[in-house]
Parts: sequence; structure tokens; C-alpha cells
Amino acid sequence: MKMHYICIIMIRINTKIIISVCLLLFAFCGRVDGLYAGTASSDKPFILVIDAGHGGKDPGALGRSAKEKDINLSVAKAFGKLVEENHSDVKVIYTRKSDIFVTLGRRAEIANKASADLFVSIHTNALPKKKIGRGAETYTLGMARADDNLEVAKRENAVILVENDYQERYQGFDPNSSESYIIFEFMQDKNMENSVNFAKNIQKEFKSTGGRIDKGVHQAGFLVLRETSMPSVLVELGYISTPDEERFLSSKNGINKMSRSLYNAFCQYRKGHSKTTITITENTIPQPPQPLKETVKAETKKDNPSPVFKVQLMASSQQLKSNNPRFKGLKPIDFYKEKGLYKYTYGATNDYQEAVKLKNTAKKYFKEAFIIAFKNGVKTDVQKAINETKKNKK
Ligand SMILES: [Zn+2]
Repeated sequence: MKMHYICIIMIRINTKIIISVCLLLFAFCGRVDGLYAGTASSDKPFILVIDAGHGGKDPGALGRSAKEKDINLSVAKAFGKLVEENHSDVKVIYTRKSDIFVTLGRRAEIANKASADLFVSIHTNALPKKKIGRGAETYTLGMARADDNLEVAKRENAVILVENDYQERYQGFDPNSSESYIIFEFMQDKNMENSVNFAKNIQKEFKSTGGRIDKGVHQAGFLVLRETSMPSVLVELGYISTPDEERFLSSKNGINKMSRSLYNAFCQYRKGHSKTTITITENTIPQPPQPLKETVKAETKKDNPSPVFKVQLMASSQQLKSNNPRFKGLKPIDFYKEKGLYKYTYGATNDYQEAVKLKNTAKKYFKEAFIIAFKNGVKTDVQKAINETKKNKK
């Protein structure tokens, strides 16, 4: 444990030294638990970012005597300590380790800059006066299907209102307007599965280890999750506004049980996600070049037209003109309707590689832009469309 601390402190001093120290450490630890020997020494550690919600001038929700920011921090530190003590191959980064104010944007930035593998934001719930709520719940990013979930997201996002330039910084996001939340339906699709799996582990643990009422896994539009580019969850430990839960979450026993629940869930997640496997998978995905000429040929086959790839940018309940400033000058903009929403797209091509380039351009303005495919004007599975494009070329 002590060596691990030295490791973290030295990162700030000298990256080169620290890397060698870390490598030595991992080689050493690998031999001890016999799991990572031989491969770990050449790998970057698994990076876990633990985010204690609120802090400093932002107390979060208030109980009769407890403040949300303090509960969040206690559980965050206890959770991190368990990981540090038991996983020498995991580097824990905290967005805050004391009672200071950190913006939502900065929290996500810390995780993104560190190329974190997993992000856990810790919060405590509250209900308006006289309402009693009990239990713990875990959120992943997405569109709230229930008003209750939307209310939780609104409350947690409202902290950006204390930042002077929040409209600019969060791209016009208004934490109090339901309309602002619509785009969350399409966010983070690539990390969704891992996030939801982890969230399920957490809920199981909150129930068994924490002895809490299981309020389940939900989706809602949390800004701090939107800005992170790795699997991420936000937990609500319980209700600070309900006296018995406030007492539990402020007690040593409560902090111990909740941090242990998070730790157990993390261990389960970690088992299935070794960095080595991910790297190998990414490097071995074959990406054959697809020249533009052939695309044009495919397009002219009228009887069986080739699928068209487009880049989805956002969705809205309102119809927007293609020159709307929200599209940041990208052309051509098109839309299709699905589930009562207008879904806006950029570009159109028969060439998947070309679509990837379009997506990269779009990502400058729309962080979560992703590729979709159409066949005869009907939306189709992207993988199917890629396969068909390949077949047409033969
Ligand atoms: Zn909170």
C-alpha cells in the first residue's frame, strides 16, 4: 500500500522515474498474486476515477445536520482506499480529496486527461420537504424515462449555475429545461453496455453488502457523465432528507458498508475488464481501405442500392432548419423522424471509411456523434450495412 502511494506522488515529480517505479511495482505485485506476471509490466495500469460529488461552496443536498458533500467524500475516500490496498494494478485518481469546489467540467476533464478506464461519481439523494424516500440507486447516462429520474438529474446538474459562463461552457445546456435533456438519448452508446453492467453490480452490492433497498439502475442526463469518455456511473447512496438514512450514511458503519459495496462491485467489473484484452482487440480489428471510385460504382446499382452512411449529431422534439447555428455550420444536414423525435444527421456516403472521417469532423462539435446507416431510405443496422457494402464490391 505504501509503495502505491509513493507511486502516485511521484507522478507529479518525474514521469519517467515514475513509470519505471510503477513497472517495477507491477512486476513485483504480479508475482505476489500470481495473476499479472509476465504481461503486466508492459501495461498501463487500470485507471479508476472516483468523483465525490459537490464540495466547497456547493454543499449538495442537506439533511438535518449532514451535508451531501461530506457523505460523498467519506464514501469516495473509503472506496478508493480499499482499491489502493488490494489492487496494485489499479491507479485511483480522485477528483477531490478535500472539501473544495470542483466544476462538473473539470471533474470530467480529470478523467479524460488520465484516459481513465472507469468513472464513478458518488452522490446522495434528497426529496422535497415531507416526502420520504429510501434506498440506493445507480444511474448511467441516457434519457430519463421517468420524471423522478429527470428530477434527480436536474438537481445534480444545477451546480453549473454557479459558474458564470455555464451556457458557453456546456454548449447552451440549461439544467432546468427538459428540452436540454433530449439529446442524452444518443449519448455514449459505445460505453453504455459496460456502464450498465457495472451499475447492476453496484445495485446488487448495495442490497447485499450495504443492506439497502434496491432502487435499481436508471438512465438520466447527468452532465458529469456526458462529458466523460469512458464507462461511467453515478450512484445515489440514499436519502439525506430521510432521517434514518441520513443517520446511516453519516455513521462509520454506513460509510464502511457503502464503500465496501462499491469496492465489491468494482472487483467484479475489474475481473472482466483487463486492459490487455482491450488493447489487443482494438489493434486486431481489420480496417481494409475502401477507395472512393468503387463507392460511386456501387451507388449506380439501381436495383439494389448500396446502404448510405450518415453521422447522427443530435435529436430534438422540434424541427430545426439545416442552417440553425446549433449545427455549427456543418453541411449537409438532414433529419429523420423516430419515436416522435427529429434526429439530425450530417453527411451521406456509401463508403464507411468516408463516414468515419465525417464522424471525426462532427466530433469537434458533437462529442458523441455516431454513424448510422440507411437502406432504401430506412434505418438499418450499421454492421449489416458494412457487410453489404463489402459484398457489393466483390
Ligand atoms: Zn449530488
